[in-house]
Amino acid sequence: MRLRHIKGAEAAIATSPYVIQEPVNNKGRWAEVFGNSNPLEIEVGMGKGRFIMELAAAHPDINFIGIERYSSVLLRGLQKRAGLELHNIYFMCIDAKDMADIFAPGEVSKIYLNFSDPWPKDRHAKRRLTSPDFMAVYDKILAPEGSVEFKTDNRPLFDYSMEAIPEAGWEISAFTHDLHNSPLAADNVMTEYEMKFASEGKPICKLTARRMPPEKQL
Ligand code: SAM
Repeated sequence: MRLRHIKGAEAAIATSPYVIQEPVNNKGRWAEVFGNSNPLEIEVGMGKGRFIMELAAAHPDINFIGIERYSSVLLRGLQKRAGLELHNIYFMCIDAKDMADIFAPGEVSKIYLNFSDPWPKDRHAKRRLTSPDFMAVYDKILAPEGSVEFKTDNRPLFDYSMEAIPEAGWEISAFTHDLHNSPLAADNVMTEYEMKFASEGKPICKLTARRMPPEKQL
């Protein structure tokens, strides 16, 4: 998602109480930031944030952080956030490749990747959020039983991810090529992009990845 630059977006983000301004200062201290030691779940590329704010409202006993690298996009999320009574969610305007500087090993329970940019050209494959480079970043911060959940309407990106994730040493513990007509639909929370694609009748793919158990590693 790339909105036209909105004047004042950086300033609004820099003064927002909902945004963590110097996230690297909190590495290993996120329980203090939230004031409890509840599990911490992150959405990478939250866009306007519908998904993560709905999760935060439904799960007050889980802490949430939404990451979005474009200020104009994050600003839309902040405007929505202002109307909600939530105590368990913050946002950050960062690039996900820097997450290992921000979270200590094992500090994160779950990572959500929703409708990530497909980067269809081979030479841009490293930018895909399910590439081995990004999986290595997630490996540095996820708890031992932690998981990565990925949803997309983009079949070539999904097929790439189904191959690249196991090659990076992870196990696909569940997947579907038609989320909304599968048992996984029961606790599904829709994102902005998902609502649009679903209304156009496009099937949504989803996978869950966990670290490969030692007995399955080569
Ligand atoms: N997750 C939302 C949804 O499903 O409605 C937004 C999907 S949009 C296609 C992808 C978003 O991910 C964009 O807003 C983009 O700026 C953000 N994004 C892509 N790569 C990122 C990265 N490396 N770090 C942080 N955000 C990223």
